[in-house]
Amino acid sequence: MFYKDFKGEKLSALGFGTMRLPVDGGGRIDQKTFERMTDEAIDHGVNYFDTAWPYHGSMSEIACGIALGRHPRDRWNLADKYPGHQHIPDLDPQKYFEAQLRKCKVDYFDFYLMHNVCENSIDVYRDADMLEYFIRQKEAGRIRHLGFSTHADLPLLKEILKMWEGQMEFCQIQLNYLDWTLQNARAKCRLLDEAGLPIWVMEPVHGGSLATLPEEQAARLKAIRPDASIASWTFRWLQARPDVVVTLSGMSDPGQLADNLATYGKEDPVSPEESDLLLDIAEKIKGGVPCTKCRYCVEECPMELDIPRMMHLYNDFNYATNYTVKMAVEALPEGQRPDVCVGCGRCAAMCPQKIDIPGVMSALADKLASVPTWKAECEERNAGYAAFFKETEITR
Ligand code: SF4
Ligand code: SF4
Repeated sequence: MFYKDFKGEKLSALGFGTMRLPVDGGGRIDQKTFERMTDEAIDHGVNYFDTAWPYHGSMSEIACGIALGRHPRDRWNLADKYPGHQHIPDLDPQKYFEAQLRKCKVDYFDFYLMHNVCENSIDVYRDADMLEYFIRQKEAGRIRHLGFSTHADLPLLKEILKMWEGQMEFCQIQLNYLDWTLQNARAKCRLLDEAGLPIWVMEPVHGGSLATLPEEQAARLKAIRPDASIASWTFRWLQARPDVVVTLSGMSDPGQLADNLATYGKEDPVSPEESDLLLDIAEKIKGGVPCTKCRYCVEECPMELDIPRMMHLYNDFNYATNYTVKMAVEALPEGQRPDVCVGCGRCAAMCPQKIDIPGVMSALADKLASVPTWKAECEERNAGYAAFFKETEITR
């Protein structure tokens, strides 16, 4: 394992994400396998573990507390997050923070993040009293480092950075060679670099989709490194970024852990030529509509829709069903969502890329209508949280 310096501390460049833990046939966390993987990770020098309230129906934190509690506290850092994006009716910083400490069986969190600060959740996070509570916990030594994770688009990210200037120590974003352009990660990294915030990476394999590539693209990588896994390339691409400190990988089985430990056995970043190759592969696989964000179409729209944004969300949704798209659309006022497109075609007549914009709007609206809303998903989960608070004791 190699390490990155963060304020004088040595953090393993590979972090263990716990959103996709091994599960048994009933979908419950396979605790024994997770414990074996935890032991293996710690033995190989991983010292950063990341959990959150909603992962695994609120059971990930408990699983982490049990698995990590079997090791000395100074051998691991634990990150947890405030679930401000979950539409929780009784959300309260103190209530949830205290519960999280109990669930994880710890007296303090090494890292604590405002979870998924985005267009859909920003009103929760604008609450100055909420932040004040967490700053007090930090002063009391119950949080060592404060940060935030975000899927926000650039305008909101700028606002967040201004709002929390000097209060946040790191930022966690979705970053990999596909999202470099698909989710505008390049521009987000630039903003974070300017703000002097080190980057923590989530979804380095884009939800698993960069672990297997179409045959033709995989062959280009295999021709260079026949024995390397396809997934290892995205991690080595991230190793080339000096602003990245911890890269979280949600490992679901011992095989993924072994592959990641091999990749992080020594620092081995991609060369500039290899980086260009990966970015070319990303262009080949992402498909979707070729919107250049020129905005020639925008003034034509009688419904005043943010058409380039919709094209971007369509591409994101098209590649892999993504809750961030649902959250982004639901954050818009109802009159500005793709389903209000009247199909007049005035936008398409202006588009130099000849995109069938009304068709894309209709397809995006249909896709969104075919899946539960983010709010509905949260309400289902929240019923489980209510049950949790009825428990007097957290047991295995
Ligand atoms: S087709 Fe839809 S998106 Fe295009 S201008 Fe008409 S209403 Fe706006
Ligand atoms: S005119 Fe076409 S390429 Fe330009 S922003 Fe609109 S959809 Fe995108």
